[in-house]
Amino acid sequence: MFSELKPLPTDPILGLMAAYKKDTNPNKIDLGVGVYKDEQGHTPVLKAVKKAEAFRLENETTKSYIGLAGNLDYCDKMEKLLLGNEHPALLANRIRTAQAPGGTGALRVAAEFIKRCNTDATVWVTTPTWANHISLFEAAGLTVKEYPYYDYENKGLLFDEMIEALKQVPKGDIVLLHACCHNPSGMDLNAEQWQIVAELAKDSGFTPLVDIAYQGFGSGLEEDAQGLRLLAATVDEMLICSSCSKNFGLYRERIGACSFIAKDAVVADVANSVLLSVVRSIYSMPPAHGADIVNTILGSEELTQEWHQELAEMRDRINGLRSLLKDSLNAKGTSQDFSFIERQNGMFSFLGIDKAQIDRLREEYSIYIVGSSRVNVAGVSKDNIAYFADAVATVLK
Ligand code: PMP
Repeated sequence: MFSELKPLPTDPILGLMAAYKKDTNPNKIDLGVGVYKDEQGHTPVLKAVKKAEAFRLENETTKSYIGLAGNLDYCDKMEKLLLGNEHPALLANRIRTAQAPGGTGALRVAAEFIKRCNTDATVWVTTPTWANHISLFEAAGLTVKEYPYYDYENKGLLFDEMIEALKQVPKGDIVLLHACCHNPSGMDLNAEQWQIVAELAKDSGFTPLVDIAYQGFGSGLEEDAQGLRLLAATVDEMLICSSCSKNFGLYRERIGACSFIAKDAVVADVANSVLLSVVRSIYSMPPAHGADIVNTILGSEELTQEWHQELAEMRDRINGLRSLLKDSLNAKGTSQDFSFIERQNGMFSFLGIDKAQIDRLREEYSIYIVGSSRVNVAGVSKDNIAYFADAVATVLK
């Protein structure tokens, strides 16, 4: 059986990570993998997380199963983090949440749940989108189609084209939207644009699925959820897949959540029984550690404050680097204008350079960038930004 299999290419980002590790150039820069890095190039464990972990070690009393929906206190707190404490959908008891193994686990649960709701549903994703979106929904047997989103030429949004395409999406299909810090383009909708999408969803009957993997990395915890909250206040039904990988720095602990909003509490309870049966048939129950850490932090005023501060530090560093990158690259006087880097959000932007230039950066300068020219802004530091800008300017000549 196994000997009939054909080898598959390694994921380009993982291949790039391996090549970076092997590279002995002391000036090497990794702008590939999508994790936050501090000025020293580390992805640290947050202090608030360390404290919550110490508390857990002391106070954990059992390793017995956690239940299908995971830690219910965590689920409640995540709903509030996503929607805000007083959101009408929350007050009307219309939201249900299952803890999930990371944002990816949440998306896979959502995919199977969608399949149970409507076997023929098509999931519409942005062009481009995080590559795993496509494989993940297809793996669940759903059709995936794309709608225009990023304007490669003008480094902005193709908003009119996006709306025209979404007008054609039939009732019963799913439209996936990135809440903030769009991966891979960094280009987000503004409040007015979110409202237009929300009205369209309400009128035409497609179901929005909001993927929120970077809450707090763009403009702030509240600001980054504004589109999601607006949608939730407008439509009867929607799905939300969230991740604590980036904002709590809990990547390897695999903690996220799959939530949905139904038209009323009765429908929500029925649908929740289906959601939980989906969970049961995939992994039965989620792991406890990450949820316990997030629950402990959000349950303590002191730890929440410390987390807010650490999150703000990460966000400020990224936004500071965006400005610095723009200035350093524009100062080189190349024919490209890099001002778009400052207008975009989160860790990613497309540099807008071609494959040969990306190869030269890697081969001649040990600067590792994925083939689409997406860079992880957090991979740059004040120490290497001049080296990076010089290298980019040289390959652009
Ligand atoms: N959605 C998007 C848009 C992402 O970029 C990521 C992480 N790269 C995820 C979901 C999933 O994150 P995780 O499974 O690590 O929580």
